[in-house]
Formats: sequence, structure tokens, C-alpha cells
Amino acid sequence: ELHTMIDSPVSPASGRDSFRADGDYENLIGGRWRPAAGGFDAIDPSVGEAWAVLPESSPADVDDAVRAAQAAFPAWSRTSAEQRQLVLLAIADRFEQHGAAFAPLLATENGRPIREAFAGDIPTVSAIFRFFAGVIRAHHGDHVPVSDPHSLVYTVREPLGVIAVILPWNSPLITLANKLAPILAAGNTAVVKPSEYASASVLEFLKLIEDLLEPGVVNVVCGHGAVGAALSSHLDVAKITFTGGPATARLILGNAALALTPALMELGGKGAMIVAEDADLDRAVHDALTGIYMANGEACIASSRLLLHERIYDDFVHEFVRVADSIRLGDATDPATELGPLVSSRQLSLVQEHLATAREDGVGFLTSGAAPSGPGFFQAPVMIADDDGSSRIARNEVFGPVTVAERFSDYSDAVRRANSTRYGLAAGVWTQDLARAHTIAGSLKAGMVWVNKWFDLPAGMPMGGVGDSGFGRETAEQTLDEYSATKSVNIDLGAPRAQMWAGQGR
Ligand code: NAD
Repeated sequence: ELHTMIDSPVSPASGRDSFRADGDYENLIGGRWRPAAGGFDAIDPSVGEAWAVLPESSPADVDDAVRAAQAAFPAWSRTSAEQRQLVLLAIADRFEQHGAAFAPLLATENGRPIREAFAGDIPTVSAIFRFFAGVIRAHHGDHVPVSDPHSLVYTVREPLGVIAVILPWNSPLITLANKLAPILAAGNTAVVKPSEYASASVLEFLKLIEDLLEPGVVNVVCGHGAVGAALSSHLDVAKITFTGGPATARLILGNAALALTPALMELGGKGAMIVAEDADLDRAVHDALTGIYMANGEACIASSRLLLHERIYDDFVHEFVRVADSIRLGDATDPATELGPLVSSRQLSLVQEHLATAREDGVGFLTSGAAPSGPGFFQAPVMIADDDGSSRIARNEVFGPVTVAERFSDYSDAVRRANSTRYGLAAGVWTQDLARAHTIAGSLKAGMVWVNKWFDLPAGMPMGGVGDSGFGRETAEQTLDEYSATKSVNIDLGAPRAQMWAGQGR
């Protein structure tokens, strides 16, 4: 039995000691908490120290979890949409009541500044469950009008079966909710493989809501990439839903191809914000700062690339750099912290490798911030000036507090540059000119375009990308189609038969 934190009242000032796992974390399989084959340390990125032991699952653990999800499927898939709606609403209510306790956990686990966890991650989770609790009641098949008066054709939507859920570390609870809510709403069961850098918040979430679900409806197996590989190549998985990097996505899709398993892929991005000469600069700078420093720059929808019209370039960059240089970088559990550490020493090295390519490519570094020394994985904000966007850092996803500023004079050139990466997740345009806003929004290669805002993803707005940013859409009504199949039923209403077979007596 896993004992957890969720009992004591928590405030933004609670710090990392407001929760403590009592013993090692365990997997959830078939409604039971079970030790895995092995274990590994979870590292607190603000201090670089181990704070918990997480399960490292074996292929046998993964197989057990898939079997448990299969066993739970017949009963769960036969529940009514109303029953599932009530379960989702109960999950939302439960999390709303206790979610605050997860803010210090997120800060400890992946370095998310605690004030952001309170304001962003926590409320979003309940909103997503409530959204899918609503739309599932209107998700149904159709009567299909056909020309033959002797045929009745209709469709029904059926759940798929066991869904393999593979999660990233940067927003573990939001990505979990984005997948679990529609999966459960549509009548599927799930096996979740959290990131090795953010498993405790997923396990604690399940601990919080487990009594609301029948055993086996949701199972969790933790561990490194091999656990995800075992899960995503399991022949009894009906669909894979993945959020993470394109390199991992390619490996997963390779295995999925052999098993003919369909997949939904939410991958990385290189979000370009085009700022026109007539933009409201205060608001644009504010949202550009939020767009990159929220989640320590470790967001797939980060505004990591600023395409600035030459008339406003200097003013914009001056104000952006002034704020970036004064940002409060530090321990994620400190409520005053604006920018926390990167998730791991590996992530810090990756960001520094990107910065090394930028130096090789001869760009200018505009910020002066230094990271605190010490064992935490801190990266100070970096603003790079690359006038024509030709450097590698202008096109590759960095996943850290690094922004590239580019100068343009011609709007079609700005759009061409914004579209010049292999990614196509989020993009945006800042202008007061309605025609320019619509024209640019229509030309950007992206799954999501913001006009005069950034980082706003209300439940109901389809989220997903094109190109190397993946395929499939989350957080929207159409997501229910991702986790269900259409069955067509065609009924004979007594159509006369022409004589076809000479041997058939009449
Ligand atoms: P990652 O691809 O390294 O890992 C994601 C998950 O895949 C982890 O759980 C990992 O253990 C697992 N995994 C690793 N190897 C595997 C394999 N061979 N088979 C199956 N599973 C395997 O990604 P990350 O570093 O955790 O997350 C960062 C990436 O995620 C960034 O590129 C970011 O842009 C992207 N992201 C996208 C969205 C979105 O919605 N589009 C949201 C958040 C993050």
C-alpha cells in the first residue's frame, strides 16, 4: 500500500517538505500497488539530490498491466456514457479539492516553479476532465441517409480497447489528463507509462482517484524508455498515445508499424511569434516572456522564436532583455521563483550543446544572466540575435529558456521563415490590422495559431501539430474519435432480390 502526501493543507509556501512518500513508489496494476522488478532514484533538479525511489518495470510487469487493462475492458466499455460522465466529474471534483498538494510535488519532481504549478497545471487538470465529461454525452453515431428505401444504415462509436499512454516529464499532470479523460470517456482502459523524470505526480494522481475506478481500468507501469518500448510494441494494445520528442516517436512508430497499431503523436515545436510594426508592444513582450519562461522553457508550445519587424525590433528586444536579465532564477519550491532549474543534468547538457552550435554559427548573445552555481540544473535565460534566422538554434527545438530574435521587413518573408522548420505546432502573430492577422494566421504551418496572445489552450480548443510536431488532436471534442472506432450497421428492410444464381431454387 502506497501512503501519500494528500492529507495536509498546502499553500504556495509549503515547500518540498509538505509531502513525502512513505517508502518506495510502486506500480498500479489491476487495482493493486505492486513493487516493480527494480527501482531507480528520482532526482530533485533544484538541489540535484535523490528524493524518492521509483519503480523500474520489467516486460513481465508491462504484460501484467496490459492483461489487467484487458480484463477490465468488457465491464468498463459497457458502462453508459452517463456513468462515465459521472466518474469523470468525480475525478475533477476530487482533484480540485486536493490538487494544491501536487504543486510542491511538481516543483520537486521536475523543477516547475511552484507558483506556476498552482496557477497553471492544477486548475487545467479538472477543467479537462469536466470538458470530456460533458462532450461524451453528445458523442454518438448517426443515421446515414442512403438512396435505397429498403436499407437502414446507422453508425455507432465503439471504444478501442487497451490504450498505451506514454508521457513526457514537462507537464506530467496536464498531459496525463489530456489523454486519460478522453480515453476513459470513450470507454477504453489504459496502461500509463509516465516519464522517468516525472512519475511520482502520476502515481500520486492515481492514488488520489483510484477508488473512483474499477480495478484495472487505469494501470501505471514506471521506468525508462525500454518500458515504453515494451508497452508500445505489445500486441494487445489497441492504440498508442504519445507525447514526447520526435526521435522517440520514430522508434515507437517503427514498432507500431510491425503490430499495425495506430498512434496519436504530440511532439515538439519551434513556436514562431511574428510581431508586426503596429503591435501592442507591452502586451507582446509580456506574452513573449511568458511564452518562453513558463515551464522553464521546457514547453512544446514555447515561443522560442521571435520574428520582429525592423521598426519595433530594437524597442522589443531592449525591453525583453531587461526583464530576462532580472528574472528570479532559483529553487522551484520557493514561491518567489520565476524560473526554476531544468529537469535533469542531461537536459542542461542538451541546452548547452544547442548554445554551442549558436556560438559556432556566429550569432549574438544579448542576455547577461548567470545561473546560480551549485548542484541544481540551472540555466539562465538566453536571448540570441540572429537577423536572418539561418543558425541551427533558430530552427531546432532547444527546450530551455532560450529565445532567438530575428529582424524582418517583409511579412511574406517573416511567414516563410516561420514555416522553415520541420515542426508545426504553435505559432502566432501580433498586429492591430485585421486583414494582416487573418492572412498570416492562414499562411502559418502550425496546428495552433494565436493572434495577439500566446499560451492560451482552453479545454475544447483542438491541440496538436503538423509535420514533425505529430498528428492527432487532443483536448477537443474530435479527440473522442481518436479513441473510438466507427461501426456501420446496414439492415435489410425487405429489399427484393434479383435472380443471380441459376442453381438457387425459387
Ligand atoms: P522523450 O521523447 O524523451 O520521452 C517521452 C516518453 O517516451 C518518456 O516516458 C520516455 O521514457 C519514453 N520513451 C523513451 N524511449 C522510448 C522508446 N524507445 N519507446 C517507447 N517509449 C520511450 O520526451 P521528453 O524528453 O520526456 O519530453 C520532451 C519532448 O516532448 C519535447 O520534444 C517536447 O516538445 C515534447 N512535448 C510535446 C507536447 C505536445 O503536446 N506536443 C507536450 C509536452 C512535450
